[in-house]
Amino acid sequence: MIRGYFYQPSSSRVQEAVARLSGNRVAIYTGDECLRETMQDTLSVSAHLPGQASELTFTDGARFVPLDVTHRWSFQSGKSSLLASLESNLVLIVCALVATPVLLYALLFKLVPEIAVTAVEAMPDAVVEQMGQQSMVLIERAALSPSELSAEQQQAVRDLWQDTLAQLDLSADKYRIDVYRSDHFGANAFALPHGQVVVTDELALLLAEHPNALRAILLHEIGHVERMHSVRLASQAAVASIAIAMLIGDMDIVAEVVLGSGSALMDLQFSQNMEWEADNYALVQLARLGYSGEDFAQALESLVSLDEDEEHSWLKYLSTHPSLQERIEHARTHTPAL
Ligand SMILES: [Zn+2]
Repeated sequence: MIRGYFYQPSSSRVQEAVARLSGNRVAIYTGDECLRETMQDTLSVSAHLPGQASELTFTDGARFVPLDVTHRWSFQSGKSSLLASLESNLVLIVCALVATPVLLYALLFKLVPEIAVTAVEAMPDAVVEQMGQQSMVLIERAALSPSELSAEQQQAVRDLWQDTLAQLDLSADKYRIDVYRSDHFGANAFALPHGQVVVTDELALLLAEHPNALRAILLHEIGHVERMHSVRLASQAAVASIAIAMLIGDMDIVAEVVLGSGSALMDLQFSQNMEWEADNYALVQLARLGYSGEDFAQALESLVSLDEDEEHSWLKYLSTHPSLQERIEHARTHTPAL
């Protein structure tokens, strides 16, 4: 006599019951009432899993689940299922424990960046344009106000920009510059993925006497755009979130990621490798156009001195960059191969 629970077919009704075996017949009783009686070979028996009761299913869908999870039916095949042997195999369990983080690592740090790079290459210009414009709207609202420089001062920045673009043979349709006042960014410059570069009043004033130093900073920003750094980062973040969402099974995240990637750009911090890439782009172009790495070193040094004068937010910008002294050293000693 085996005690357990009886489940009526396609119903959530549960009854306490006992199963009686006699010969090759199985009968289920609750009290004196016989609920089912059938031949053993018409029953299906669930797979043997450690810690799980072996339940009987009748042809009409009714089920009997023994209370004792270790109970095994005498008429059940002696061989336990493949699944059960996998679950009770210690070596396999340890392997799975080790393999899961390895697979996760491979997925997030190897596969995701590769998919992201492919996605960037396939990214239509219109999407990049949209991403950049939306980010600019957010940044402008949150951190920028109209320039307070004189018309001449602003024009000097624009002339320098046009001159640099012309020398680089870059399209003036794609690349544009804007000057803004910003308490948030301080003396700073940044580039948006679609080619818009922003220079703050403070940076323009700081380097007003050293146009080639400002040119070096502009080249660094153009380097970020040419190498598609922000698109790469946004796409990596998006692909990683989608991969995690698929693992966890919450696809709502996907919509959020796709819609939210624009605002993520605002807090964008380039990786150190990307900063070196942008620096090297600037150094190669300076050399090619007949200027020198010294111009870039000077720009960086001006920012250091500014930082000593007052507690300035340029620090924020620099904190995401490689060590400033390292970069100044690199700008002075690196001779790009042309
Ligand atoms: Zn940078």
